This record gives sequence, C-alpha cells and structure tokens, in this order.
Amino acid sequence: MAHAYIGFGSNIDDRLYYITQALRLLLEPDSVSLIQISSLYETEPVGYEEQDWFLNGVIAVETRLLAHQLLILLKAIEGLVGRRDRTRWAPREVDLDLLIYDQCCINTPDLTVPHPEMHQRNFVLVPFAEIAPDVRHPILGQNIRTLLSNLNDQKTVKLIAPPLKIDARI
Ligand code: ADP
Ligand code: MG
Repeated sequence: MAHAYIGFGSNIDDRLYYITQALRLLLEPDSVSLIQISSLYETEPVGYEEQDWFLNGVIAVETRLLAHQLLILLKAIEGLVGRRDRTRWAPREVDLDLLIYDQCCINTPDLTVPHPEMHQRNFVLVPFAEIAPDVRHPILGQNIRTLLSNLNDQKTVKLIAPPLKIDARI
C-alpha cells in the first residue's frame, strides 16, 4: 500500500458541494481509503487574481493504485463532478492534485510528483502541515513544517471550518 497526499480546491458556485462530491467519489471504491483530512481553508487566488476565493484542503490516503492510476482517477472525478475545461489558473469547480506519493519522484508528461508547485503555495502547505507536518519532501529533503516556515507567500489562507465528514456511500 502507498501513502499519498492529495490537495483539493474549488472556487465556483457551491464550492462545498463540489468538494464533498469529489471526496465521496474518491473514497467510494475500495482502492482508496482515507487516513486523515485537514480543516477547510478559504484562500486567496494565485496567478489570475480576478476570481473568487477558493476553498482548499489536503487529505492523506492509503491506496493500492499506482501514482498514474491515482491521477487517472482524480481526473475522472474532476470530470464527473462537473469540471469544465478552461485555461490554466482559471476558476474551477474542483481541482484534485496529487501532491506526494510515498517518497516517489515522477517526471512524465502527464504527471509530476511531488507536485512541482506545492512547496511554493501557502494554500497547500498550511492544510498539509495541519495533518502531516513530518512528511518529507523527497526532492527538497525538508519536511512540510520546515517548508512552510521557510515560505514567504503573502497570500491569505484562513481557517474557516473543521474537517468535512465524508460518508463514502452516496
Ligand atoms: P493546475 O492544478 O496546475 O492548476 P490542472 O488541474 O488543469 O492545473 O492540471 C493540468 C494537468 O497537470 C493535468 O492534466 C495533469 O495531467 C497534470 N499534472 C501533472 N502532475 C500532476 C499532479 N501531481 N497532480 C495533478 N495533475 C498533474
Ligand atoms: Mg490540478
């Protein structure tokens, strides 16, 4: 079994609905089980700034899926929940990013793990540090707590709600 960390986010319409649906679908098959889930954070958009704020969080899972299989599942769930194709940085119904997969380093056209921008983003590191501060970044060699304390990202990340209770049976 592998341990993986997945970041989730949404900034359109009923953000909580999209996130809840996505997490339910992810945890429904026996192949992915939830270990931990962070609180919910409201975060300032990065990149294209004329858009609504996001809801973000991070989950820890245990899975039999290989990293590429997990990515395919994440993309399929984004589609099922209703994510429409837009440009990069654009608003999205739901975004599921594979942040870390064991201590694997993967660099293929479809998949880069660890996620190449995770260590530069408050909105990833704050919820990640809440649930797993001691996880080591396999390339940078530092743990999540240290990456967060060394990061100088001015973007606001506000704790707004306790962890969602996800009932995998829809
Ligand atoms: P972003 O999350 O960077 O804003 P998208 O969610 O639209 O952008 O993802 C664009 C592409 O990034 C996906 O089609 C996927 O193949 C690729 N990708 C590469 N590495 C990862 C990863 N670790 N997690 C999720 N997607 C990834
Ligand atoms: Mg993404």
